[in-house]
Order: sequence, then C-alpha cells, then structure tokens
Amino acid sequence: MQLVLLGPPGAGKGTQAARLVERFDIPQISTGDILREHVQEGTMLGIRARSYMDRGEYVPDGLVVQMVMDRLDEPDAEKGFILDGFPRTVPQADALERALAEAERPLSAVLQFDIDDDMAVLRLSNRWTCPTCKRTYNLAFKPPLEDGICDFDATPLERRADDDELTVRRRLAVYREQTAPLQRFYAARGLLCVIEAEGKEDVVTERMLAALAGCP
Ligand SMILES: [Zn+2]
Repeated sequence: MQLVLLGPPGAGKGTQAARLVERFDIPQISTGDILREHVQEGTMLGIRARSYMDRGEYVPDGLVVQMVMDRLDEPDAEKGFILDGFPRTVPQADALERALAEAERPLSAVLQFDIDDDMAVLRLSNRWTCPTCKRTYNLAFKPPLEDGICDFDATPLERRADDDELTVRRRLAVYREQTAPLQRFYAARGLLCVIEAEGKEDVVTERMLAALAGCP
C-alpha cells in the first residue's frame, strides 16, 4: 500500500498516520529525516544535497525523489509506505509519480484530511503542552484539571509560539494555497480520497479505513 497524506495543520494527520503504521506495518517516511540522514552519513546523495544547502538553496526535487526511492528499497518498506509532508508541489508530485512508475510501485491512494479553518484554529490555538512529560491538552476539548498545570506532574503548561490564532490562520492560508493544485493533480488521477477529519480520533480512523477499503 503506497500512500500520500495531505492535510492542514490541526487536522490530526500525525495521529492517523501513526495508526496506519501500526495497522499495516508500513513505515511513515519523512523527507526531512531522510535528507538529514544522507547529509550526516555523507552519502553521494547527501553530498550533492549539501552543496545546495551550503549555498542557501533548496535541494532540487529530483534529488529528494531519489532519496525517497532509495528509502523505499529498504526491507521495512516492502509492503508499502506512507509519505507525509511530501510532495508539496505539483512538480514534486510529477517527479515522484515518474519514479514510482519506473519502480512499478504506483501510489494506491492520496488521503486528504479535511477540516474547516475555524475548527483547526480551535484545536491549535487552544493547544497547551507539558514541557516535562510532553502530554498535550486542549482548553476547548481536553482541559487540564487545574488551570495551566499538567495533571500528571504539576508542571506549568506551555504553548507553541506559532499556535496563536493569527499565526494559525496564516499557516492555514499558506497550506490551502500550496495544496490546492496538488489536490487537483491527484483528483485527476482518481487517487484522491477526502476524509472528514472533524470529530473523535477513533471516528476519523474508521472513516479513513473505510475510504481505504474503497480505494483501488
Ligand atoms: Zn506533564
């Protein structure tokens, strides 16, 4: 099963991805992580990527796709993989599609987690995290027992700097602008499965699995 996940911040994509990993025993592949690994280990691809990064330039899409394809050769990805955070643009999607076709491992589906902006803002701007145990709370949906204090270790809770409402709305606008062409690209190929991401995590998981069952 070869999957790409799309979804704005606040859609709960990370949680659902973790459930897919567990259920189907396939890895979630982050291009950020593999890029860092290649650079750290000084592989040929890493050295080439480094030369762009040192000049303050973006690593070309073709090079990132090569790293992804390289990662897919590892035994844990034999049954499939989940790509999250890549592709972000149509040229990247295009390069990925060609490489996957060549490897005879075309995408099975593109899961798009949908949530409206107001709900995403409600989720993100009310999110507080405990710096000690990393538990997260949500003032709107899952508040701590005592205001601003972790239930488990009494540490004062913190909020991410980019989780205030204005910044969240800006992140969402950027996301929509960036992703709309990608959605059209995958919809045109009959790969796009839209999943309503509002509601409880378990309910969203059920919707996701139902959508997957209906995928080619
Ligand atoms: Zn805590």
